[in-house]
Amino acid sequence: MLMIGPPGSGKGTQAERLSERLGVVAISTGDIFRAHVKGGTPLGIEAKRYMDAGDFVPDTITNEMVRSRLCQDDVEDGFLLDGYPRTTAQVDYLDQVLARGGQQLDVVLQLTADDDELVHRLLGRAKETGRSDDNEAVIRHRLDLYHEQTEAVVAKYAERGILRKVDGHGGIEDVTDKLMGAIESPSRVSIAGGR
Ligand code: AMP
Repeated sequence: MLMIGPPGSGKGTQAERLSERLGVVAISTGDIFRAHVKGGTPLGIEAKRYMDAGDFVPDTITNEMVRSRLCQDDVEDGFLLDGYPRTTAQVDYLDQVLARGGQQLDVVLQLTADDDELVHRLLGRAKETGRSDDNEAVIRHRLDLYHEQTEAVVAKYAERGILRKVDGHGGIEDVTDKLMGAIESPSRVSIAGGR
């Protein structure tokens, strides 16, 4: 499964909660990058420049990091990837990695929220966590990138009939319940073509 959503939509929180409920591992590219930054690894030092500016880390780094993570044993029974793919080139790369491993995506969840609400939430989060990419100019840039690049990713999965859109406004519990409903929704079967 994939979890897609604009910055501040709560995708990280929800991915963790779904991972617990479903017993599949949640993999967040943002979290992996932040762990590298914290550990001061060469990958972290390189990624930090892009993250602080609100830019995407280049595919040469990101794709290889995801490929090696998806080779680990704990993904054998499924996984929930949060924050990847964000570009159509990453969609193509993920297709190849999954095909090579004999895996396929069952469902892609998209969390939606209004831009103004997202900026409000992220500015609040900046005060709590001190994340270096949560200031207004960088937040607006990350939202622009989402609209310019990641919405095309969403469209690709919609064409394949595996996209489930869930309104990310509301309480954390309610949103988790809506996501669980979307995963279990019978319409997935008919839209996906009789699977
Ligand atoms: P997130 O925690 O998902 O908001 O990700 C934080 C930052 O990590 C992003 O703003 C990007 O700089 C970087 N990042 C995470 N996932 C990707 C990705 N799939 N492609 C490129 N950069 C990414």
